[in-house]
Amino acid sequence: MLWLVMPASGSCQLLPGVSSAGSGPIAINQPVGRGPLARNKPDDVRTIQDALNRVTVANAAGGPMPFLAVDGICGPKTNAAIVRFQQVQLKIFDGVIEPNKKTILKLNEILEPVSDEDLKAKVRLALPIVARAIAAAMQNLQAVIASGPAATGPAATAADRLNRHFRLNDLKAFEQSTTRIELFSTYLRFNAVIMNPELFNLTALDEFDLDKNNPKIALTRRNGFFQEGQKDPATHRRLDRIHLGLGFFASRVTPDFAAFIILHELSHFVGRANGQEIHDFGRGWFNEPFIAPLKAAERLANADSYATFAQECLADKPDKPPFVESRPGGLAGAR
Ligand SMILES: [Zn+2]
Repeated sequence: MLWLVMPASGSCQLLPGVSSAGSGPIAINQPVGRGPLARNKPDDVRTIQDALNRVTVANAAGGPMPFLAVDGICGPKTNAAIVRFQQVQLKIFDGVIEPNKKTILKLNEILEPVSDEDLKAKVRLALPIVARAIAAAMQNLQAVIASGPAATGPAATAADRLNRHFRLNDLKAFEQSTTRIELFSTYLRFNAVIMNPELFNLTALDEFDLDKNNPKIALTRRNGFFQEGQKDPATHRRLDRIHLGLGFFASRVTPDFAAFIILHELSHFVGRANGQEIHDFGRGWFNEPFIAPLKAAERLANADSYATFAQECLADKPDKPPFVESRPGGLAGAR
């Protein structure tokens, strides 16, 4: 319950009929197959049909022959292929493939054996982008802290960005100025994790636990940064780590997207400089349905708001990047 989870489902989907061979682990949003659990959304069905065909291509046992049509329709042939794969590879068969469960893990194990080096390489690509985004966010905050609100110039641009992503303009003037300083200190903490890990007797890569048995994108504990050396008694996962799952290493997670995910997780991980924990009240760009209704107090404690503000400062334009996903917060969006 306490873990904040970024699920494996996402905004990018495989194009119909295009094989994703060798392009990273697969993930589905909803169950595929037969029975009451199955939702058989066409994009998910295509992902599974393509993956099962690739089992045959990889010369592993349990793949379909002849190949399945990658048409997004879960008919008798697709259902039979799912059951056969489960029978051969898992010795159990319920005929349904659920997100983040055994069958999809087995498919990924067969199709995309990922080495620790592959995993680390992806983190290494993303970290410099994270560092630049944090620097850009701090630079913007500094501009408006130094000169106060201004009508034009960098301070005005920065104030607009703070209003868009955190709704600082909803606060009283004196609260706005203390909040800007506090935000600066919060991003400074992000920066400490990424840039100066030796301060905390850690190395940057050690902060990330690369969990190949976890098909989700990422998970972390709120304020885990301050729970050094502690473990979750149930899962034995370290609390003072950001755990990246297989979903993080899927091909659709580009370095920019990976950096955005890390920014989001960092905010949970370090919390606000005033000690408040950072939650998931909503996901998406500042003007999207799950963010727009959030007031300043919620946005200041909302992980995606920290990631989107830094993202806009980095890109130097208010346009939503394609990898930002619109989702509800709370249990539906993350745990
Ligand atoms: Zn989150």
